[in-house]
Amino acid sequence: MSADDTALNAPAAFDLLAARDLLGVSLPTADGGLGRTFVEECLLLEETSRTGVPIMAYSTALTAAQSYLRFGDATQRATIVSSLRAGKAESIAFTEPEAGSDLASAQTRAVRTSRGWSITGRKTWISFAHVASHILVLARTDVSGRRHDGLTLLMVPADAPGLDVRPIETMGAHIANDVVLTDVQVPADAVVGQVGEAWRHLGRGLAVERVIIGGMAVGAAQRAIDQLIAHVTGRVQFGRPISSNQAVAHRIADLAADVAVCRSFVYDVADRIDHGEEDHLNAEASMVKLKASEMLKHTALEAVQLMGGYGYGSEWGWSSSSAWPSPRRSTGARTRSSARSSPGASASDTASSRRLHLRRARHATHVLRNRLCAHDERGGGEGGGSQLTAPPIDPTTVSRGMPDASRRDSVSGSFRTPPSAATANAGATPTQATDRESSPFRRA
Ligand SMILES: Cc1cc2nc3c(=O)[nH]c(=O)nc-3n(C[C@H](O)[C@H](O)[C@H](O)COP(=O)(O)OP(=O)(O)OC[C@H]3O[C@@H](n4cnc5c(N)ncnc54)[C@H](O)[C@@H]3O)c2cc1C
Repeated sequence: MSADDTALNAPAAFDLLAARDLLGVSLPTADGGLGRTFVEECLLLEETSRTGVPIMAYSTALTAAQSYLRFGDATQRATIVSSLRAGKAESIAFTEPEAGSDLASAQTRAVRTSRGWSITGRKTWISFAHVASHILVLARTDVSGRRHDGLTLLMVPADAPGLDVRPIETMGAHIANDVVLTDVQVPADAVVGQVGEAWRHLGRGLAVERVIIGGMAVGAAQRAIDQLIAHVTGRVQFGRPISSNQAVAHRIADLAADVAVCRSFVYDVADRIDHGEEDHLNAEASMVKLKASEMLKHTALEAVQLMGGYGYGSEWGWSSSSAWPSPRRSTGARTRSSARSSPGASASDTASSRRLHLRRARHATHVLRNRLCAHDERGGGEGGGSQLTAPPIDPTTVSRGMPDASRRDSVSGSFRTPPSAATANAGATPTQATDRESSPFRRA
């Protein structure tokens, strides 16, 4: 991973969340996952997005995992679950230069050999292939039938000989890649699902993928609002904070309402997925993805506008080249010299980035734990995910950029090993005790 990539995917953040059993929470226990609900997975996605934890590849890996879990064999499922749980990236390679929206035009070929399959072709726009452990490749295994037939999914190790990953230059950070496959050899058991059945396989399970994006969009929009409020309450013009102008406050209230509506929608559909309705939620899940992503776009643009010139500055890190808003500053006085980062990451930059990533990951686990706790106290998924609410906005927390540092080492949220309050608190400092009392496992 290059220095630039750590703004999107920081190994330190992955390690911390993996060590706390927070990755792959919704994956089945039979395959090595934690077997918790998709609502809880969405909480993780929302809070890591909101708090700016750089684990962007996680959502792609989670999406890839759905195909393996639904159609893969036991070995493939266990491999992918363990990869996700350890904080490793997984990639999906469907799109080709001539097959975007029209995926059935895919031309990448997989030809049978005496030992398995030989794959040759070119994939494009493949997210995180440059850091992935495996790539789920859509290939044509039969050219004789209709174009929707004869397509097959194959699990390809990302370091297989003949597989070449080339970054695509974009207006943003390095996410996407061309993946060129030249006579890549995989064994017969690399097929995921049935040979020739990929089209029908891909038609299923899209609800989860769409809601994953919805959860992340809600978190990112909430972050924009948190930061916007921090700015407008501190920014003084004409002798008073600009937030005291109703024209400003009304617009922020509208944004907050939009986020709340989308949040309810995301958790409602997530809850229905948990209740086994996934295959009947194509329309609703598509609406979630559409509305949540449009809401995020609108919220981000409004936030930039309402912050005036400061919204255009790089301090908040809302540009597409920086994955998440920066916590450097809050309001009023500019600290331009300290706010600008150099393009090349020096050793101390890297160390401070790592500290920042860890701090964000700890903060996310802290907030997440509190929301899980609230969720459990309301009876978990019963009654619908719409009961889930984000914590109230605290401009002072936002203005500090990150939460109380004194709490940072006391976050012990773990899905796997719920400590009883009594055991966990033995010998703990007062702060630690408070943190542990609100374990996500404290059930009513
Ligand atoms: C950042 C990024 C990451 C990506 N990650 C992945 C990945 O991990 N794996 C992967 O396989 N792919 C990935 N993609 C590819 C993505 O899935 C495709 O970009 C998408 O499917 C659209 O294909 P296209 O870009 O070829 O657009 P096109 O198919 O050329 O479409 C261009 C425009 O025409 C419109 N259009 C096309 N057909 C019609 C029609 N019949 N009626 C009306 N409008 C139409 C489209 O809606 C679109 O607005 C990624 C793309 C991006 C930008």
